[in-house]
Amino acid sequence: MNTTTATLPDSASHTYEQVATASNEVAGLLAKRLKTETQGEVLFSTADRGRYATDASIYQVIPLGVFVPKHAEEVATAMAICRDLKVPIVPRGGGTSQCGQTTGVGLVIDHSKHVRNILNLDLQAGTVEVQPGMVLDSLNASLKKHGVWFPVDVSTGAQATLGGMAGNNSCGSRSIAYGNMVHNVLGAKAWLSNGELLDFSQFENSNGREKQIGLFVKQLAVHHQAELQTNWPKVLRRVAGYNLDIFDNQNERPYSPDGKVNLSHLLVGSEGTLAMTQSLTLKLSELPTAKVLGVVNFNSFHKAMDSAQHIVKLGSGSLTAVELVDRTMIDLSLKIPAFAPTIRTAIIGEPEAILLVEFAGTDKEKLKRELKQLVALMGDMGLPNSVVEMVDDAPQKNLWEVRKAGLNIMMSLKGDGKPVSFIEDCAVPLEHLAEYTDALTQVFQKHGTKGTWYAHASVGTLHVRPILDMRRDGPLKMRAIAEEASALVRKFKGAYSGEHGDGLCRGEWIEWQFGPALQQAFAQIKQHLDPLNLLSPNRMVNPPKMDDTSLMRFGNNYKIIPIQTALDWSAWNVHNDAATEQTTLPGTGQDPAQGLAKAVEMCNNNGTCRKFDAGTMCPSFRVTRDEVHATRGRANTLRLALSGQLQGGLESPEVKEAMDLCVGCKGCKRDCPTGVDMARMKIEVQHHYNEKHGLQLKDKLISNLPRYAHIASQWPGLMNLRNQSPLLAKLAESLTGLSAERSWPEWKKDHFFNGPRVGVSAEEVLKASKPVVLFVDTFNGYFESENAWAAHDVLFAAGYQVHIASRTKQDTPGQHLCCGRTYLASGQVNKAKEHAQTLLEALLPFAQKGIAIVGLEPSCLLTLRDESLVMGLGEMAETVAAHAVLFEEFLEAENKAGKLDPLKIKLTPAQKPILVHGHCHQKAFGLMPSVTQVIQLIPQAKVDLIESSCCGMAGSFGYEASHLEVSKQMAEANLLPSIRNNEDACVVADGTSCRHQIVDGTKRDAIHVALLLAQHLIK
Ligand SMILES: Cc1cc2nc3c(=O)[nH]c(=O)nc-3n(C[C@H](O)[C@H](O)[C@H](O)COP(=O)(O)OP(=O)(O)OC[C@H]3O[C@@H](n4cnc5c(N)ncnc54)[C@H](O)[C@@H]3O)c2cc1C
Ligand code: SF4
Ligand code: SF4
Repeated sequence: MNTTTATLPDSASHTYEQVATASNEVAGLLAKRLKTETQGEVLFSTADRGRYATDASIYQVIPLGVFVPKHAEEVATAMAICRDLKVPIVPRGGGTSQCGQTTGVGLVIDHSKHVRNILNLDLQAGTVEVQPGMVLDSLNASLKKHGVWFPVDVSTGAQATLGGMAGNNSCGSRSIAYGNMVHNVLGAKAWLSNGELLDFSQFENSNGREKQIGLFVKQLAVHHQAELQTNWPKVLRRVAGYNLDIFDNQNERPYSPDGKVNLSHLLVGSEGTLAMTQSLTLKLSELPTAKVLGVVNFNSFHKAMDSAQHIVKLGSGSLTAVELVDRTMIDLSLKIPAFAPTIRTAIIGEPEAILLVEFAGTDKEKLKRELKQLVALMGDMGLPNSVVEMVDDAPQKNLWEVRKAGLNIMMSLKGDGKPVSFIEDCAVPLEHLAEYTDALTQVFQKHGTKGTWYAHASVGTLHVRPILDMRRDGPLKMRAIAEEASALVRKFKGAYSGEHGDGLCRGEWIEWQFGPALQQAFAQIKQHLDPLNLLSPNRMVNPPKMDDTSLMRFGNNYKIIPIQTALDWSAWNVHNDAATEQTTLPGTGQDPAQGLAKAVEMCNNNGTCRKFDAGTMCPSFRVTRDEVHATRGRANTLRLALSGQLQGGLESPEVKEAMDLCVGCKGCKRDCPTGVDMARMKIEVQHHYNEKHGLQLKDKLISNLPRYAHIASQWPGLMNLRNQSPLLAKLAESLTGLSAERSWPEWKKDHFFNGPRVGVSAEEVLKASKPVVLFVDTFNGYFESENAWAAHDVLFAAGYQVHIASRTKQDTPGQHLCCGRTYLASGQVNKAKEHAQTLLEALLPFAQKGIAIVGLEPSCLLTLRDESLVMGLGEMAETVAAHAVLFEEFLEAENKAGKLDPLKIKLTPAQKPILVHGHCHQKAFGLMPSVTQVIQLIPQAKVDLIESSCCGMAGSFGYEASHLEVSKQMAEANLLPSIRNNEDACVVADGTSCRHQIVDGTKRDAIHVALLLAQHLIK
């Protein structure tokens, strides 16, 4: 065997270049064959290719096409077609890689949608065999009942796939206890690029081709023994290059506990360049039943770093993590409503850094004693009273969520300067950690930037991203910082790539790390396994330069097309200073799209919107599992459109398709770590689409409802006919696109707006001692008047003088006040603004007097705190927003102020358990605790919050025939089954459309919280 040359065959090395400039003919042929020979999804449109051109890195490489296999076998078929046509293949899972591993020309094969099953669970052996597209958290959710888990707990566990984790040799927060991915993989079945399906497992039991591969690699290891010993980093966290040392382990932890060679370990960390994984056999660990957490507060970052080496010695095997959160991260977390309360539970004063020290096992009492040892150690080190001891599970879990979101929190910085991942995860031996971080901080300062530090202090892998502007001098600085950081890594005998892999970003550093001889050996491994150079070519072998701007998302040619926006996006239109993180004034960022482009570019592709656990984001992705229907897919589509990479821009059919299933739930506004507000973007996009294509009949019908409601309600018999006649319903469906299967809200002749006048006059409320203004929206006013009356009655019973907000302008007789929501829902910003203006003028005098303006329908009331502020309505909008509250928020605040005693004594005990479903906008504003707390004013109330995403009705979304199925699926994901499983419960839902979905899907009524309270008032 020749172990000295490693050139790739000419034809193979040219393949990549050829496909990079591939003709439509190759793409056409590829698509055609995939379509005829498989049942998978064949995605070759410009938009689809653009959406798969990026991952959570700074890179963008447009692939030839995308294939989403329906079955695992179709991967082999796709590979065979690629082989025939000489098209490279880019394997992909969740696409959350940070170094550009999943970007490449050729065919991207996305395993995450269908190829994601457990194939075999052997509890006795403590193993599980999974398909590569299975998401880590979903595996662990199904293992939980057996008391075991797969412990490589990456921060992206809610969206990272096992195939991707193996590809990158991912490492979790608890790697000090469990090791990296490679230490937890026992076997892999994988296709080589020539179509052979091999079983990579114990070398000593291998035969045939597997044995041949093993012998080849073994010979290389023997041949390069000297370089392995001198050049190979010895730290746990080394993930660069191929694992040539499986035959001569250089790591502080053996690959396998028994020291035997397992050939699957060669594939782990190979980033899809050696073989395509069909399945992985994983080693399971016992799920710890007890955990305690000590949060050590430090007044100097250096001290925190220096302490890590001593802390890791604690715990006699039970220490599972030592994780860092620095001052910047603490400050950023404090600014994010979802995280602020949690981070406050962990800090004492204003620490410069905190270390999260976890002990896990089965005996809580023993762990508590170990926690005390930590307290004692810190005392000995001159830091008495510096540890927050968390022994209960809930606060620990909350804090871990914040730590896991660390990177994303950092990315929420507005402006073109962004924290860039390229020396993100260098690992150094613990004794050098403090010196290394000090030195690197100075490097950042020298280049006019700074970095935020966080992550795995236990294993010397501290994440840090200097802030760089990749459209300007970022690439130059990136190179300079990388050079200096690498010198430090070498000085401290560390690993340059300690967690996130090589990809485009670190490919060129493999040779730097291991030397030319080992790089040559890697090339030989690549050639031996993939002589066709079909699998992610030019990545780990012959990689491009990390700062090749032609491969970057914001490369040289990136330009935003000027547009006039309907909404005000100036808050995003800012510059930031890399060294201070200060941003310039809104509107000064020179975005030709007036801030919209910069708002869209906030998406860094981290993929959190692909999660399925708690939170609302993203209901449409949860149902379809399509990249196009994730917030990320939408943001990428908009970025392509705004930067001229998608013909037709915002008005293109591709943008329409991407936005079609966005229900405007605002889930992303809260749950997306960088605050991508797709609901607002949808309004903007629809505005542009309407300008070009006009409005559809259904949009006119629904949006104008507040305008014609007073007339329609006079003819309820006629208006409700459609609900009684299936024929009419069908006819209406064909005319309007509103599904015949859905009933429409019933019109009533007698409703709140023409019913008996309740409440006090405007003059009276302005002088009242306990004043409140009730804003009754179209839906509660006309269709569910009982809610409006109930709200009045409850407030009245609580001793308030209630004024019902009404129009001050009498130019539109009979009309009530409206926030403009129905117009916003179809992008009619100008009409929405007219309505909002009238509403604001009516409410302003009360707001100016500091009187609370209480609303019932979350989407309407919260429009005052959201969209009204970006429609150019000036200070008036700000003033009203400051006083606009939901019914439950008002009562909660008043209760806290001790003002609800008159109400409390009038409430009768609850007879049934109460189940609450939150409206998405309530959740987006973090208001669900108000609902549950207000319900608890009712004596003996037993309240449960349904863990649900969007109900699927979302205004008019679920009424539309084209969305009916998706709408039902959203509801069935959790909401409706939870209600069916609680037959006795009284269901509370504050959203009109949520109530409608619930009654449609379960035949059970849901009621507004105001009505619930009113029902419990002593008669
Ligand atoms: C915010 C954030 C936090 C992160 N935190 C961590 C962390 O804590 N620890 C950590 O290690 N990483 C972390 N990462 C990096 C990344 O999330 C992980 O590497 C993750 O495991 C990748 O999973 P994925 O499904 O997204 O894989 P992808 O990015 O889709 O793919 C990863 C690699 O695997 C290859 N691959 C995928 N499927 C196959 C297959 N079937 N056959 C062969 N090759 C395949 C791909 O080609 C690629 O090279 C983080 C990333 C982000 C954005
Ligand atoms: S939309 Fe938000 S959560 Fe989704 S990938 Fe982009 S930044 Fe991440
Ligand atoms: S608004 Fe809701 S549906 Fe739309 S992208 Fe955001 S989370 Fe998804």
